[in-house]
Amino acid sequence: MMDSLLADASQRLEQALKYTFISEDAIESLKFPQTSLSVSIPVRMDDGSLQVFQGYRVRYDDTRGPGKGGVRYHPSVTMDEVQSLAFWMTFKCAALGLPFGGAKGGITVNPKALSRMELERLSRGYIDAIADFIGPDVDILAPDVYTNSMIMGWMMDQYSIIKRHICPAVVTGKPISMGGSVGREAATAMGAFYVIQAMLPKFDKDPESTTVAIQGFGNAGGILAELLYHKGYKVVAVSDSQGGVYSKNGLDIPSVRRTKEATRDVRAPYCDSSVCEISNQEILTNEELLKLDVDILVPAALENQITAANAPYIQAKLVFEVANGPTTSAADKILDEKGIYVFPDILVNAGGVTVSYFEWVQNRSGLYWTLDEVNQKLQSRIIEEADRIWTISQENAIPLRTAAYVHAISRLGEAISAKGTRDYYLNGRGKSRN
Ligand code: NAD
Repeated sequence: MMDSLLADASQRLEQALKYTFISEDAIESLKFPQTSLSVSIPVRMDDGSLQVFQGYRVRYDDTRGPGKGGVRYHPSVTMDEVQSLAFWMTFKCAALGLPFGGAKGGITVNPKALSRMELERLSRGYIDAIADFIGPDVDILAPDVYTNSMIMGWMMDQYSIIKRHICPAVVTGKPISMGGSVGREAATAMGAFYVIQAMLPKFDKDPESTTVAIQGFGNAGGILAELLYHKGYKVVAVSDSQGGVYSKNGLDIPSVRRTKEATRDVRAPYCDSSVCEISNQEILTNEELLKLDVDILVPAALENQITAANAPYIQAKLVFEVANGPTTSAADKILDEKGIYVFPDILVNAGGVTVSYFEWVQNRSGLYWTLDEVNQKLQSRIIEEADRIWTISQENAIPLRTAAYVHAISRLGEAISAKGTRDYYLNGRGKSRN
């Protein structure tokens, strides 16, 4: 699957190349990850046995700054997957104008099967193994699937032990008490919210007249649902891995969140007959949620959810991708033909990496910002980049995803070419493709 993810991502790069001016050298450089590290991590388990885990760290491109990307703990992590995710990070950082390249890391592990002590030893062992490969000016880590602020705290601490001085800026997404930034936890949802708010008027809509369905009710989808609810949007459906709930008059999202936190299942309250009767909610599957007749569909769960198989049945007018890679390129084509606007992941979910950048800046300056400062800076940056991507899309009559890649590639190409290109050396001038 991950091989096809990278192939899918590369296809989007190819499509965007038709609309931008970038040297052949830059195109060649962007085809391959710059450095890929594979490590073995021996961990002493609680029962005294030794288990060796496979870990990875990939720096895809660092022309625009140090590598930046999360660390994923999952049984399906492979080098291919980590390379694909590092590729996405490269374009996401460039699209948002952050002074970072793209990187990613991961360990092939089912973290739920480990005790907390084993998890700590594994996380510290991972840092021991990659310490020479990372650093505040080289490659900066962050949380991803099944890693969190506690794990980031261990990683920062271990790196500081190795370097024999405190190095908070090597990891973002840390606990606030260890140099984390306020606003980081909600940042992905906040960024998506600002993009939705900024783009809605272009479709002559306002929150009160807009219905929303959200697939995935975790850190990103759950917080976004609540932000939209409080702004007056009608969030008619939400789901998690167990399934979803629907109410045509709009769900009471704060109550769904409270229930989810208490029971870990968004459907739970509605399986109780008395609540079902009072609130009149229906249960629906994830597949049904994707096909609802709503104004906005937000995939906020996993990769490859909107595919060629279900894209013909998508009825939403606008799709805002909060998950990474939720739409396949075959589905993209179908949605485009149906006139559905897809606001791409590298823009919509970039609030997380943007506030990670703010955390890195605060760690390096030693001056910490208020929540208002963080959110204001996030809002102005993400809206500015969303507007640019919208304009590129309109001027070239191209889908928003292609426009986002055009925007990112222009910045990357400019930086790569600034180091010197073949044309520059041979002809004394920069020659562009096209
Ligand atoms: P999370 O683990 O907090 O939540 C994931 C949610 O998806 C959970 O509600 C889970 O039950 C649900 N889910 C899992 N499998 C599902 C399925 N088959 N169908 C429907 N729902 C399913 O994760 P998160 O941090 O909210 O991340 C969600 C997505 O957003 C991921 O693709 C992630 O890469 C992306 N993202 C997150 C951040 C961030 O800062 N949290 C940043 C950028 C991108």
